[in-house]
Amino acid sequence: MSTPPLPPIRDVIQRHGLAASKALGQNFLLDEQLLARIAALPGDLAGAQVLEVGPGPGGLTRALLRAGARVTAIEMDRRCLPALAELGESFPGQLTVIEGDALKLDHNALMNAEPFHVLSNLPYNVGTALFVRWLSGEAWPPLWQSLTLMFQREVADRIAAGAGEDAYGRLAVLAQWRSEARLAMKVHRSAFTPPPKVMSAIVHVTPAAMPEGVSARMLERLTEAAFGQRRKMLRQSLKGVPGALEALSRIGIDETRRAETVSVAEFVALARALGAARAEP
Ligand code: SAM
Repeated sequence: MSTPPLPPIRDVIQRHGLAASKALGQNFLLDEQLLARIAALPGDLAGAQVLEVGPGPGGLTRALLRAGARVTAIEMDRRCLPALAELGESFPGQLTVIEGDALKLDHNALMNAEPFHVLSNLPYNVGTALFVRWLSGEAWPPLWQSLTLMFQREVADRIAAGAGEDAYGRLAVLAQWRSEARLAMKVHRSAFTPPPKVMSAIVHVTPAAMPEGVSARMLERLTEAAFGQRRKMLRQSLKGVPGALEALSRIGIDETRRAETVSVAEFVALARALGAARAEP
């Protein structure tokens, strides 16, 4: 697809005076080849709806537009808006920019209740809060078709970890019980301007089938209790969850095990058994 020539992102940043703000967690990506690789992670985006959170000067945005996506971008730094408006003029009808805080907006409504992909390089605290929000809730499958998100490497490891690994915990269960979550790309700190203190990685998540008979709230309750005391045996950490110890023995999970050894599938089975127990007269 032929796309209009654009000035280097570094020039855009300079011309619009977009010195990176620490308070807004701004670390910009300027390498267009890297940005094109990130934009390719969800697959072919030609004609697809994309929600980009935190476009900043628009490096990832331009890669998404070049891939043919229809992009809705939420940015809370109004200094970036003229640069983004300029970018939109080069891709008529493809870019909508919303000024605001992504934590306070209803994303499904913004996307007109149509399926969309999410791509984002966000400050890590905002990214984690949005991640938990996208993965939580009883309604499944969600309207989003994939999440491609930059995280601090340590958080990316926690999302993709399996049982028995040090990084395994609540975030891994949340990310994997009804989704596929993988660490898709490691990104060196030197790729950012200015470079952050820690390494980064991109996580790619796609929704999977919702296991039958399992309530998201029950699963959250179990993982909160179990990982709240991750070094304790389940018989201790799950004591406060009514029916949990009986359910463990019913489905054959040894109560002397610790949360960090319990697989995602076992947590799902436990939540299901507890749900079933609740439903019994
Ligand atoms: N996507 C650009 C890139 O890759 O170069 C910018 C990345 S920078 C790490 C994060 C961007 O998110 C900044 O432009 C910042 O202003 C914006 N941002 C921070 N918190 C936000 C929020 N709550 N809602 C929307 N945008 C936010």
